[in-house]
Amino acid sequence: MSGRFLSIGECMVELSQAGAGLLRKGFAGDTLNTAWYARACLPAKWSVDYFTAVGDDAMSDEMLAFFEEAGIGTGLIRRIKGKAPGLYMISLKNGERSFSYWRESAAARQLAADPDILRQAIESADVIYFSGITLAILSHNDADTLLSEARRAKASGKLVAFDPNIRPRLWSGYDEMHATISEGARAASLVLPSFEDEALHFGDASIDATIQRYRALGVRDIVVKNGADGITLNFGGTETFVASEKVETVVDTTSAGDSFNGAFLAHYLERPDAPAAARFAAKVAARVVSEHGALVAKGKLGV
Ligand code: ADP
Repeated sequence: MSGRFLSIGECMVELSQAGAGLLRKGFAGDTLNTAWYARACLPAKWSVDYFTAVGDDAMSDEMLAFFEEAGIGTGLIRRIKGKAPGLYMISLKNGERSFSYWRESAAARQLAADPDILRQAIESADVIYFSGITLAILSHNDADTLLSEARRAKASGKLVAFDPNIRPRLWSGYDEMHATISEGARAASLVLPSFEDEALHFGDASIDATIQRYRALGVRDIVVKNGADGITLNFGGTETFVASEKVETVVDTTSAGDSFNGAFLAHYLERPDAPAAARFAAKVAARVVSEHGALVAKGKLGV
């Protein structure tokens, strides 16, 4: 098979400590990370595009050049006059990382503000991926626009994949977060939650409870990630467990779930064998947690 994989969301400028008071600049964001790993794992006959909104400043130009360099298409991305990308900084204190964000006025918050452009982008794609973070950064109206386009794509038979990626601090309250994330899942044909987040924020007592909750929302296929403790798949009611890979030394778990999703989807699109895709994705994610940073180069992934 071939086609276009479209990931929708926010990429930010990342500033990390480079020693001696210096900061290193990078680009990252959950849906961009997934596009990166999908690109690394899919054959060239597939195109991988990112859909977001950026500004018209130099940093936005650099961000788009970075995507292009990685083989991620930018042709669908909105440009918004007078805006700039969001930014976050990673601070290190006694080996513990903490994050500061400047993203409230980021261009990406307007990615769904023009329904026609969003519809064209989604119609041009064969596979659509978005997350709870994508929904969290949008206004109510714009989240509704994105959800209705995702539902339309699902109804037309496209694979619509959703990672709830629950981040309470991005939401104004728990009720809104629960309701909108549930709507995101309802609009998807495949959901890829992380059990730790689901247990903490939805109160799921077991992986089975997570699966039942998403199935009740009309999701056909579910992949529950559970860190080192393996992956539980429920595809159309058939359940399989896949063990995680053994990792000698976990260096940095940033983007473990995002890389798993990109690798899983890439494998699954080429060969619709969900357990095989999960085994492949577990290998890729194991390499990612063994390296520093969200975006590990293709050469280090063993793909
Ligand atoms: P998230 O990053 O979204 O919280 P998880 O922590 O569940 O998601 O990790 C996603 C995937 O990354 C897991 O399904 C597993 O394949 C892999 N992974 C994460 N942590 C480890 C680990 N310590 N050892 C081996 N694999 C891991």
